[in-house]
Amino acid sequence: MEIFSQKFLIIFVIIIFLVILKARRKKPTNISEGRHITVIGKCLTTYLSKETPLICLLEEDKKFGEDFLYKEIPSLPHNETCKCLLKPIIHQGEDLFKKKEKQEPVYSSDIGDLKRTDARYYKYILICNHPEATEELIQKYEELAEVISVTPEIKKEIVEKLSQ
Ligand SMILES: [Zn+2]
Repeated sequence: MEIFSQKFLIIFVIIIFLVILKARRKKPTNISEGRHITVIGKCLTTYLSKETPLICLLEEDKKFGEDFLYKEIPSLPHNETCKCLLKPIIHQGEDLFKKKEKQEPVYSSDIGDLKRTDARYYKYILICNHPEATEELIQKYEELAEVISVTPEIKKEIVEKLSQ
């Protein structure tokens, strides 16, 4: 009796070939799924408060680097009261698209930790109320602040802080 018939052998070889092919194909995807962390730029953050210098408020949340609008990374501190920091902007390969539910960043201020929208609104109001702000700046940032929707509680907190 012929156990290994020709047909069986051919099928066996094909199966082995397909298994090897599949294994080889898998390899590159495994590599790209790994944590390829690259720093692609820097993002400027600052402490939002009534005392924050105007330059720092204006530069806050700006992204610097080759792939961004602002190519040149600023040198810090802006002045003696500057509390700005440059945070690395990280690109994590494919992980960037997979982790949709990323934790929202927290912005520190003299009215507590704020979420992105509230922090932006507060920054605009701080710029408008800054003693060094020009008419032009005030107008621009008043318009920007108007289109941001924040809760009445946040608005109240800001008004109270600024009147202190
Ligand atoms: Zn600064």
